[in-house]
Amino acid sequence: AFDASYVKSVIRALPDWPEPGVTFRDITPIFKDPKALRTVTDGFIERYVTSDITHIASIDARGFLVSAILAHQLNKPLILVRKKGKLPGDTISQSYDLEYGSATLEVQTDACGPGDKVLIFDDLIATGGTLIAACSLVQRLGGSVSEVASIIDLPGLQGSQRLQDSGVSVFSLIAY
Ligand code: 5GP
Repeated sequence: AFDASYVKSVIRALPDWPEPGVTFRDITPIFKDPKALRTVTDGFIERYVTSDITHIASIDARGFLVSAILAHQLNKPLILVRKKGKLPGDTISQSYDLEYGSATLEVQTDACGPGDKVLIFDDLIATGGTLIAACSLVQRLGGSVSEVASIIDLPGLQGSQRLQDSGVSVFSLIAY
């Protein structure tokens, strides 16, 4: 069974970062601790090994780290959803609002298409804006979103609720 308390013991809370009043959940220590990384990746592999997902889409940049392991272990193609201006070739982009200003995500137009069932992964769900934008990109290419997954959910910020309200299934290993 997934050992949530072990993973929680490794994740670091950084008060007042990147700005006063925000507590940042630092997942860097997971990558320094092979047992923690294996616990996290095995938690997702257990859930998706029997699923019918065809692709894994991951979010720039912390999302990439775990997604690459999942793509390898589940033997699925990996889609990179990147911040604006990073991907070569034909892309589509989706902007979304941040607390101050906005951000834009992009994906290559040949990343997926009709009939594809995509798992979208990021490290953490806060307001949900990032993953909602990523869902739009996959759907605009004709793919369907099977589920969005994160290591951490911050349910107090309502992001996972917003995702569910938009009709998307959400799975997170731990919540604060
Ligand atoms: P959202 O779009 O859901 O508001 O924010 C989620 C995005 O911001 C994710 O891509 C995530 O990497 C980043 N993020 C926001 N807060 C935190 C945090 O406390 N810890 C980490 N590791 N990432 C965060």
